[in-house]
Amino acid sequence: MNEVVTREATCACGDLRATLAGEPLMVSSCCCTRCQRRTGAFFGVTVYYRPRQMTAQSGTAATFHPPDGSTTFHFCPRCGSSVWWVPEEEDDVIGVAGGCFADTSLPAPQRMVWTEHRHPYVRPPPGVPTFTGAPD
Ligand SMILES: [Zn+2]
Ligand SMILES: [Zn+2]
Repeated sequence: MNEVVTREATCACGDLRATLAGEPLMVSSCCCTRCQRRTGAFFGVTVYYRPRQMTAQSGTAATFHPPDGSTTFHFCPRCGSSVWWVPEEEDDVIGVAGGCFADTSLPAPQRMVWTEHRHPYVRPPPGVPTFTGAPD
């Protein structure tokens, strides 16, 4: 048996933490304007897992539900980092903020979505599929 990799996603102040066991289902980057505003960066990175892979949490998350969105964001009420989110339309999947791992062993994004809003100098990794809007 191989040892199961675990990674910890942490907000900027360290109060809110989540431990994820095993490799993610997928890593996706998104250039949509919501991700830009939520992160303060030019694109967001979502690391998808099964909810059961989140094996531990510490701290208390506040939640944010965008008025026109279908995802509930869990963020640190002290520092504001969104650490994970739950899409309402997909069962059995959670998204975790790629940057909150601060871990270069994380697999590279396997796609880039909403490139309609991509800043021209932001480039997807070579060979990675891109979608102008939501992925197929
Ligand atoms: Zn925090
Ligand atoms: Zn987005």
